Amino acid sequence: MTQRTPYLDEMLDALAQPGCAFCHLLDGIAGRLVDAILFESVNDVKVREELNAARGLCRRHGPLLVRTGSALGTAITMQGVIKVLLRQLDSGEVGSGSRLRALLGGAGVGRAPAAGLAAALNPQTPCPVCVQEATFAAHYTETLLRQTRPGSPLLAAYEASDGLCLPHFRDVLATPTSGPAPGLLVAAQRAIWSRLNDELEEFLRKSDYRFQKEPFGAERDSWQRAISAVSGQLPAHLTDGL
Ligand SMILES: [Zn+2]
Ligand SMILES: [Zn+2]
Repeated sequence: MTQRTPYLDEMLDALAQPGCAFCHLLDGIAGRLVDAILFESVNDVKVREELNAARGLCRRHGPLLVRTGSALGTAITMQGVIKVLLRQLDSGEVGSGSRLRALLGGAGVGRAPAAGLAAALNPQTPCPVCVQEATFAAHYTETLLRQTRPGSPLLAAYEASDGLCLPHFRDVLATPTSGPAPGLLVAAQRAIWSRLNDELEEFLRKSDYRFQKEPFGAERDSWQRAISAVSGQLPAHLTDGL
């Protein structure tokens, strides 16, 4: 009986798609968690407390709250956060009228009289979607490092893919491991970046006015793929229809 390796099938599927497989998988994880927050846990006291303590979602994940049918759930969760922020302003060290006036009247150069309030407004716990992403990224990294062997299906899928984006590739290389995976992944990623470099070269050549009669081929969107390769997968709405 063959035992199923955790996350292997998902990773093979993700590697068959364009772009960074980790970004795809983690975007899915993030989307499902935000769905659960908005559509299943909006009245769950523990979830609300966690969101309030995190001062809402981070800048990267906040936009996920804008989704079909999310207005009511988002209004409820965001009102919870806004109420916490108001309480902090009211109870903070610059909350009262006279102290606020003193603050507005100007403080000494180099002082930050509201630093305590700034600290209270800071997230007291990390963004819950970031936490979930980090947990799953660790699982995917472990699977990748274990399953990358000479001749393995995962290595073949990696070699045929767009590789990992730079941040995820760095994270994988920085993970302690034994075995051949790092060397094999570096060689595969080098070939992927080298192909991308050739495509950018071709894009730039055809952008030269002397060669403008030559139609663009597969290198047409290499500049967008290069952004995704360096910074992490671009959101689909930025690449659709260009
Ligand atoms: Zn990525
Ligand atoms: Zn986040």
